[in-house]
Amino acid sequence: MSSERAVAIERHLRTTFPSGDLPTGALRKTAVVFGVSGERVRQIAARAGMRTVRRVGTPRVLHGCEICGKPVSRATARYCADCREVTLACATCRKPFLRSRRTVRARPEAAAVYCSRACLGRMVGRTFGFGRDRASA
Ligand SMILES: [Zn+2]
Ligand SMILES: [Zn+2]
Repeated sequence: MSSERAVAIERHLRTTFPSGDLPTGALRKTAVVFGVSGERVRQIAARAGMRTVRRVGTPRVLHGCEICGKPVSRATARYCADCREVTLACATCRKPFLRSRRTVRARPEAAAVYCSRACLGRMVGRTFGFGRDRASA
């Protein structure tokens, strides 16, 4: 095989995969295009400092969402955007409302479960007998 072809193959790889990461199958595909063996392409790629990776083009995923396993983009986030908030039903008015899952996790007892201070107050009033008049309004 001529060195011109090796140069052409290297240029092709560099152009197609500028990151230097070759996805699985790229060696074989390139080999077919240039009519050489996959092993030859691998040697050229290795000499060019490129490496074969399982996947390419996707952002590096640090971990999955603790709930659904979907990739989480931020390193500090435990949940994906969809799972960041939980829907709770207000214990007083039964309206569903959203609460950050972190809050629920940190203080499960406090997260029980009022959509607003007004509802919390109403429940406290009912429980302890204060403001009974207002609570029944
Ligand atoms: Zn999730
Ligand atoms: Zn409520």
